Amino acid sequence: MVVALTGGIGSGKTTVADLFGQLGAGIVDTDEISHALTKPGGGAIAAIAAAFGARYITSAGALNREEMRALVFAEPAAKTRLESILHPMIRAAVDDALANLRQQHPYAILVVPLLFESTTYRRRAQRTLAVDCPTEMQIARVRQRSGLSSGDILRIMSAQVSRSCRLQMADDVVCNAADRAALHGQVSRLHARYVTAAAAAR
Ligand code: ATP
Repeated sequence: MVVALTGGIGSGKTTVADLFGQLGAGIVDTDEISHALTKPGGGAIAAIAAAFGARYITSAGALNREEMRALVFAEPAAKTRLESILHPMIRAAVDDALANLRQQHPYAILVVPLLFESTTYRRRAQRTLAVDCPTEMQIARVRQRSGLSSGDILRIMSAQVSRSCRLQMADDVVCNAADRAALHGQVSRLHARYVTAAAAAR
């Protein structure tokens, strides 16, 4: 069984996924896969160099994120081109990872930031789970972690489905509006339900 976990920027997806992992769920994170593909020697580097030129690869052999960000900002079609390289590779890596986890874990948590923005990963999941917290809290947490301004964060949020839409679409919700300790009980209860559902589905 696959549970797709989503949430807005800085809502706590990674924090919540880690807790599920500690309880025994298998974890597949699409952002981690994307980073692995674009790190030095990553599987997408050769294709990116061929499509965009050596300027978009750092001397260490990774995607030059700064250059690529500037290009995508100036030329939106470049984003589509980059995605047409990365997305099929991410999908293939997700499918491999899910198949590998099947033997060792009762079920998998698949972390997908933009789950409800397309059908790609919803089709792979039997349940969906949203991590939710108030918008001001998302902004405060992201600001604390990165150099992004509130304006940058709001711009990123505007490219994601709204909080109310996400809450309406998700089968289950983890509320991350308090401290980390408040997550344990919620995650444990969901984990028990997912283990039972996965056993019934086998
Ligand atoms: P992103 O969308 O940027 O990938 P995310 O949804 O995976 O983020 P996390 O990385 O889990 O979110 O959390 C964002 C930041 O907020 C992190 O620095 C994390 O340590 C912190 N954080 C998450 N939950 C809590 C909490 N309940 N209390 C305090 N800090 C928290």
